[in-house]
Amino acid sequence: MTSPATLITTDIEFERTGFQTGTLRLPYSHDRSAYGHVPIPLALLNAGTGTGPTVLLTGGNHGDEYEGPVALMKLMQRMPSMAIRGRLIVIPGLNFPAFVNGTRTSPLDHGNLNRLFPGARNGQPTEMIAHYVETELLRRADVVIDLHAGGASFDHAPTLLASPPAERERRALYMDLVRGFGAPNTMIMDLLGEDRTFAAAAERYGKLFLCGEFGGHAGCDAENLAIVATRRVTVANSNQRSKRRN
Ligand SMILES: [Zn+2]
Repeated sequence: MTSPATLITTDIEFERTGFQTGTLRLPYSHDRSAYGHVPIPLALLNAGTGTGPTVLLTGGNHGDEYEGPVALMKLMQRMPSMAIRGRLIVIPGLNFPAFVNGTRTSPLDHGNLNRLFPGARNGQPTEMIAHYVETELLRRADVVIDLHAGGASFDHAPTLLASPPAERERRALYMDLVRGFGAPNTMIMDLLGEDRTFAAAAERYGKLFLCGEFGGHAGCDAENLAIVATRRVTVANSNQRSKRRN
C-alpha cells in the first residue's frame, strides 16, 4: 500500500472547471472524537486549464486577524457569478482552529502556523496544515496573497509587505503585482532570515507571494477592510493575463 503524500483530504477537485465549495478535512483524533476531523472551508473557481494563472488567497493564518477573512468571505459570495481567467482558490481561515478560537495560535496544539513551514505530514494539526499548504497548494499556485492584520498584540498601519524575487523577469512580474495591489503603504523587505513562514515556503517553490498587515488589536476596522476588499490585481505572465477583484 502506498501512503498518501498528505493525510488531509478534500472533496474539492482542483482540476474541474466551474465553482466549488468544500473543506479540507484535517484528521484530529482526540479524547472526545476518536475519528474526528477539523473542516477547513475553501472555495474554488476554475475557468479551465490554460486560461490563466492560479491565484491562492488566504486569511486566518493567524486566528485573531479579521480584515482578510471577512474580505475573503465576501469574495466567496461573489465567486459563483465572477468572470475570471485561470483559477482562484480562496481559504479565508487557513488555521481554522485558531480562527474559530480567535487566537493567533491554535487551541489544539498552540501552533503558530506562520512559524511551522514546511510542516509535517504526521505532525500536530497546525504542522499538518503547513505541510498541506507546502506540498499540495503551493505546487498548484502561481501567485499567493496571504492577508494578515497584526493580531491581538499590536495594531499595524495598513501595509503591503513585499519581498521581490531576485531573478529579473519574476521581479518585474512581482512589482506589477505590488503596483496593482495599490496598498496605502508598501514596505519592501527581505524574509528576515526566517525560513518557517508561508512567504519562505512560497519562495522555495518559486511562487509570487504578497502578504500584508491590514489592522490589528484583534478588531476589524472598516477602512482597513475596504483596502483589502477592493483591490484589483492584474496577474500577468508571458502569454496570458487575468484580473481578479477581492
Ligand atoms: Zn498574522
